Amino acid sequence: MKECNQCGKCCTNYGGGNLSVTAREIDWWETHSPEIASYVSNGRIWVSPVTGKTMDRCPWLRKLPGQKKYICRIYYNRPDDCRHYPVDIEQMVKDDCEMLEVHDLRVPGKAQKTLDRLMSDSRPPVKP
Ligand code: SF4
Ligand code: SF4
Repeated sequence: MKECNQCGKCCTNYGGGNLSVTAREIDWWETHSPEIASYVSNGRIWVSPVTGKTMDRCPWLRKLPGQKKYICRIYYNRPDDCRHYPVDIEQMVKDDCEMLEVHDLRVPGKAQKTLDRLMSDSRPPVKP
């Protein structure tokens, strides 16, 4: 298991209307980050404040110039759904997450423990 290389696949896969958000997160953005809150509508993210339509791509995702790397412009205030990704090995395989290495597929239980350790700043470990 490698560290995240910021390939951006997860944000591209899920950032276009496939993220969930809680009322608590929305309340926090409304108070502390109205710019983020402006992309919320009827409890859904991300919705364009201009068109009122769900966006095809996350508005906070930026490609670094001249690199195959992406950054999140709201990294420290991003939704918990983003914060918790990747959750498990199955999801990583499905999404072709680049943290995975071949040997992780041979011993997925051990790989999950390594993933949980790498993610310990962002989410609790996944229950077996
Ligand atoms: S909010 Fe940030 S982490 Fe979440 S999908 Fe957008 S760019 Fe990715
Ligand atoms: S798909 Fe995996 S390696 Fe790529 S940015 Fe997301 S977590 Fe990182």
